[in-house]
Amino acid sequence: MIIHWFRRDLRLTDNTALNAASRDSGGHVVPVYIQSDWKGSHRWTGAPRQEFLCGSLQALASGLEKAGSRLIVRKGSAIEELERLIAETGAEAVYFNRDPDPFGREAEKRLAALAKRLGLRTEGFTDVTALPPDAVLTGSGTPYRVFTAYSKAWLRVPTPTPDSAKLKLHAPLSALKSHSLPDLSDWELSSTAKIVKPGEPAARRRMEAFFASPVYRYQSMRDIPSAEATSRLSADLRYGTLSIREVIHRCRVAAGEASTAKERNSAQIFLNELIWREFYMAVLWHWPEVLEEEFQSQFRGLPWLYPQQKPTALPLRHSAVQPEEAFQRWCGGTTGFPIVDAGMRQLAATGFMHNRVRMIVAMFLTKDLHLDWRLGEQYFMQMLTDGEIASNNGGWQWSAGTGADAAPYFRIQNPWTQTAKFDPEGDYIKIWIPELRDLPGAIFSKPPRPGMRFARGYPLPIVDHAQERAITLEVFKAHGA
Ligand code: FAD
Repeated sequence: MIIHWFRRDLRLTDNTALNAASRDSGGHVVPVYIQSDWKGSHRWTGAPRQEFLCGSLQALASGLEKAGSRLIVRKGSAIEELERLIAETGAEAVYFNRDPDPFGREAEKRLAALAKRLGLRTEGFTDVTALPPDAVLTGSGTPYRVFTAYSKAWLRVPTPTPDSAKLKLHAPLSALKSHSLPDLSDWELSSTAKIVKPGEPAARRRMEAFFASPVYRYQSMRDIPSAEATSRLSADLRYGTLSIREVIHRCRVAAGEASTAKERNSAQIFLNELIWREFYMAVLWHWPEVLEEEFQSQFRGLPWLYPQQKPTALPLRHSAVQPEEAFQRWCGGTTGFPIVDAGMRQLAATGFMHNRVRMIVAMFLTKDLHLDWRLGEQYFMQMLTDGEIASNNGGWQWSAGTGADAAPYFRIQNPWTQTAKFDPEGDYIKIWIPELRDLPGAIFSKPPRPGMRFARGYPLPIVDHAQERAITLEVFKAHGA
């Protein structure tokens, strides 16, 4: 009998550890999910992610039932619960897919200590990423700091193809106790957003829909936030309701079946985004300290602002806005910059924000409001359904100009020209800001005349972008940039 410890791999198709457990035990697998026991607010997660988790567990439990098995749910410390389950089942081994983030790695260390104490076999598998995070190294054996070089090297390594083996599973002992499936209220949370449908069947439908045709238009449409032209698979990859190998395989098939060079290129650009995900996982693997400090060490100690702080640390002579108010208005989508506010309202309403807009709002928080990128990073983790520690940290440090292969500190996106480029008719803005719906869309590409509002009930821009940009450049230069 082998215990399969479900973590962030909530699917039955092409699940590396589960397939291996089924093969090695002749189907005598005890599938367990151990629910964390924290309550209230959490630095690294929030209601949308937990809701996606709950729904994905429900789908997993019914999938297991259909396959003749049963999901065992336990609550509490993962290692203590595993120890209890090992004693109850007499299992010979625990199989799991490795979680490359620092918290996952810590749990795996504790499992290794338990296994040593009990004389038990454990097997960890690569599954969250296509290649292990330490597999792609420079010629001198060091990790890559730059994406382009990483992606070229990544493309040279063969990636495993999906394992289409049919799962064989027997029901675990009926005497084994299981808690009921988790519910948001277990963490004292309640639903705040209309999130994508969780669970493997919904994930597979999303994947089919994307590869049926949008993948071929990805290159030209992926930056248009109103177009909904991206895959929306990020939460599925976060919770493993799809396997990364399968998504990569489908992408390569799509490239092979493309009828024009443009279509083929689109599929390759999509693959490139998946490689960004692998890159950030590798960065976090090699430099876990990025969760606390800037990747580029020369930018550690930059005088970022914090709520409740008097803005004395910065030359904020132009800016009348206090950090507390600035942060609240950024979170609430009332900065008076329509593209920023639309993004923040999309996030609150759906637990998702388009990638182009994530970059705009993140640069705005750090370069226009001078607030610490870690505040935005945490807020995103609490609000996103796809909150992925590695990609989120990577995205935030990229936007702040402090990360691995980040935007150079002096390349500060202008929210008005970004609007002109990516939402010229205001289509995206009008979806999320009803106060602005009746205005001609083209007016959001420039600030309103000084002292004038776009519409009654919609705020004046919180800052002057040109002035704040100058402050940011001054601050970075004063810090040795
Ligand atoms: P698609 O465009 O369809 O891309 C396909 C997949 O590739 C995505 O699902 C994702 O897994 C991966 N991907 C795409 N772009 C990136 C990228 N820049 N970095 C890493 N992986 C990428 N992505 C997350 O999955 N979780 C996060 O918490 C997260 N936080 C971010 C924070 C900031 C400030 C920024 C700028 C980006 C962040 N991203 C994050 C990356 C990106 O915005 C999302 O992956 C993307 O918007 C998800 O939508 P999609 O699935 O439709 O993407």
